[in-house]
Amino acid sequence: MGFDLMDEDKLKEECGVMGVYSKVQNVSHMIYYGLYALQHRGQESAGIAVSKDSKIDCYKDMGLVSQVFSDKNKLERLEGNIGVGHVRYSTTGESLAVNAQPLIVKCKNGEMALVHNGNIVNARSIRKILESEGVSFQTTNDSEVMANMIARYYKDDIEKAIKGVMEIVKGSYALIIMTEDKLIGVRDNQGIRPLCLGKTDDGYVLSSESCGLDAIGAELVRDIEPGEIVIIDKNGIRSIFNDKWNRKKLCIFEIIYFARPDSIIDGINVYSARKEAGKILSSEYPVDADVVISVPDSGTPAAIGYAEESGIPYSIGLIKNRYIGRTFISPNQKAREKGVEIKLNVIKENIEGKRVVLVDDSIVRGTTSKRIVNMLKKAGAKEVHLRVSSPSVSYPCYFGIDTPYRKYLIGANKTSDEICEMINADSLGFLSQEGLIKSTGKSDQFCSACFNGDYPMEIPREGLELDE
Ligand code: SF4
Repeated sequence: MGFDLMDEDKLKEECGVMGVYSKVQNVSHMIYYGLYALQHRGQESAGIAVSKDSKIDCYKDMGLVSQVFSDKNKLERLEGNIGVGHVRYSTTGESLAVNAQPLIVKCKNGEMALVHNGNIVNARSIRKILESEGVSFQTTNDSEVMANMIARYYKDDIEKAIKGVMEIVKGSYALIIMTEDKLIGVRDNQGIRPLCLGKTDDGYVLSSESCGLDAIGAELVRDIEPGEIVIIDKNGIRSIFNDKWNRKKLCIFEIIYFARPDSIIDGINVYSARKEAGKILSSEYPVDADVVISVPDSGTPAAIGYAEESGIPYSIGLIKNRYIGRTFISPNQKAREKGVEIKLNVIKENIEGKRVVLVDDSIVRGTTSKRIVNMLKKAGAKEVHLRVSSPSVSYPCYFGIDTPYRKYLIGANKTSDEICEMINADSLGFLSQEGLIKSTGKSDQFCSACFNGDYPMEIPREGLELDE
């Protein structure tokens, strides 16, 4: 989760998108609350754009939603009955205010605002073509490439323009586009990044996750399908499909870690899937122990599942300091190593003299796991058995998740036994890929490429930067 403080050992989130169409009311407050609920998906910048009387107004800046809109006048000045919002963690493009979204682009028919979650793997070559045609770019991110392409194709028919662009761009995208009178949601042909549709009394909502709908009292209608373009305007709602290559390949990491546990994504209840993963993990890697604890907060549902299945009591062994965000600065290496202890503390009486099962949702580098195991042992744990409710990460992601270089991915370089030794645990078990899929209650409709290297599309050379 976004505020997970053990973020050095986690994949980094992507972005959150939100869009609201109302027949009657100003929507900026609804988007603000929706973005609040999606804050875990990105904490570097936030922004909202609204459309009123053929004019688009936008405010965006670096910081959390609460910081960007700390002056309530900024929100109140955004008046309009259609709007889009975005929270960002920079995966492509630098961490600069200019890269914050919504992006506003001019087109033949006026202005358009766009918010994007995902990553376009052939953005660089498209950008070169557009530049050679005289398009100039304000930002360094791939979303602007997408926005400019749509603007360029958009002569009279925005839907045709989006469909045309979908045939050229490769990668992952959940997009929300606002024209002066329409709100349009688009999900990539494989549905790698999530996007759902909700309904209010006087309109519709699009959101990365259903928790964004809950925050504004909207009812979840359904998920946008892979390759679907959903158009909301004064005539109601309708969809067209880009029916080329559509097959669902939702990012399995949404279910493991990124999404909020109270969200439902593609029909999967995230909390239940995580708990089920813990149960399956317990049957795959049982151990004699006295207590099950979690790495808070993202490991907690799986730890509860592990405890339930094994009959070993669940307890709280680690307490997280909730007031250290991403901005926590470790002045030097020594302080950095101390960082885990500042972020987490042990409840000694719950683990002292005990054989502990420690449950985490994922391990990327293994560095934090080692520090936690050592903390528990120092506090008197007799044994520490680490159980991870996903397989070990072995391949980089090209679809909008910030993965370290392959040489730092623990699963790419070490066997399970070697990892166990490295982190000083008494035993280690990673959930199998089959167990992970089973925990979702669905057949295999996922991208699991960071575990098995089976990418849902061919990655062009220009997109392969991470594999060094
Ligand atoms: S490679 Fe991994 S993180 Fe990236 S989309 Fe696929 S499952 Fe998600």
